[in-house]
Amino acid sequence: MSSTLFTHGLVITSDGSRPVIEDGAVLVEDATIAGVGSTTELRGSVADRVIDLGGRILMPGFVNTHTHLAGTITRGLVEDVTTGEYLEKIWPIEALGIANGWFNAGERLAMAEHLLAGITTANDMFFDPASALRNASEIGFRLLAGTVYLDFPGPDGLSPEQRSAELAGLLVEFGTDPLVQVTTAPHGGYTVGPGHLQAIWRDAEANDLLFHIHAAESKEEDATIRERYGHRPVEHLGAVGVLGERTVLAHAIRLDDSDLDLVADTGTAVAHCPISNLKTVSGICRVDDMLSRRIRVGLGTDGGTASNDYDMFAVMRAAATLGKYSTQRPQSFTAREIVGLATIGGASALGMDDRIGSITEGKRADMIVVDTSAPHNVPMFDPFTTLVYQAGRTDVTHVMVHGRLLIERRVFADLDTEAVVAEAVKAGRDITAELSGRDSD
Ligand SMILES: [Zn+2]
Repeated sequence: MSSTLFTHGLVITSDGSRPVIEDGAVLVEDATIAGVGSTTELRGSVADRVIDLGGRILMPGFVNTHTHLAGTITRGLVEDVTTGEYLEKIWPIEALGIANGWFNAGERLAMAEHLLAGITTANDMFFDPASALRNASEIGFRLLAGTVYLDFPGPDGLSPEQRSAELAGLLVEFGTDPLVQVTTAPHGGYTVGPGHLQAIWRDAEANDLLFHIHAAESKEEDATIRERYGHRPVEHLGAVGVLGERTVLAHAIRLDDSDLDLVADTGTAVAHCPISNLKTVSGICRVDDMLSRRIRVGLGTDGGTASNDYDMFAVMRAAATLGKYSTQRPQSFTAREIVGLATIGGASALGMDDRIGSITEGKRADMIVVDTSAPHNVPMFDPFTTLVYQAGRTDVTHVMVHGRLLIERRVFADLDTEAVVAEAVKAGRDITAELSGRDSD
């Protein structure tokens, strides 16, 4: 057994019973948090290694509830266009990307970026999930990913019929991995028909998997679903029978009061992606009305095109400021609540709050250290305010996932980040060359 004792930290637990521990300490044994208390309380603990935090913040790693990891590789390529124009340009590139391994480079880049930014768990949606799950398992990143369903062949060439075989393969390869988790990820209610959604739901239920779907995001989606089925997008998912505790709705913007009640009554969760929603001009999620109905809400970065950056500090700040603005109440969305959404809220939305999301004895040790000594972080009257409105990802110094210290003083122990970056830069050059070749045809 290996053990680490963190001492003299400002411990933000995201655990309601003892939210902040001044001069705190945390004992980690193998993958598990074995003790939480003040440094004095844990004085008698024996550990292979003691890390004196010198007053830095020790907190749970961030949970990114909706993302497209491989999208790092095409970020910035198609900008300032409508979603329709974007899809028209990007889909042929996605097909090439899968064939040429560009997205493998994108996944590794995204995982390095996530971890360096203090994000220890992500819920991904992208083609070839086996590649992402393999990379995550190797790097030590906690990843949820699974089959992406469409009613038509995807850029990976798989037909709808081949998708269930893909899912079965994922379950065989990753079903018992303690770090990564297989999901079902139907793309959306306008790209996957009712019968297909129900078949995916049955697979998700039979294997106890998450059902991760885009819902009520764009005006076009809303209009299409109303025209085809006579329902609003979330109402449609309810009528089809795919709302429930295993369902995570990405975005969930266009909801009226009855939709909100339906989401609450079915125990469905929401991945709130404020930066993506603003950049794509999709709208504003009614997070305040969700939280008052006790709907589980987590925060998400979304993928490379919609938000470019996979930075939970930026997402927290956007969620707080947009939340306050949309309610017109500066008292709403306190910094403490926002940090809660980014950690335990996200874990709960993904159905993982029994294992991660807070610094609680018995949970997996997914924790980060944030140094608040830089000029932009001082003076610090309230650590939650500092985290949401001032701190940034470069303040994250240490990252532990599943009890393994992956990053220390901003340097990976095992991952060669220079190689990861070089691979991604090369993929970017290949994409540019491919596109210029096509233009000159
Ligand atoms: Zn998305």
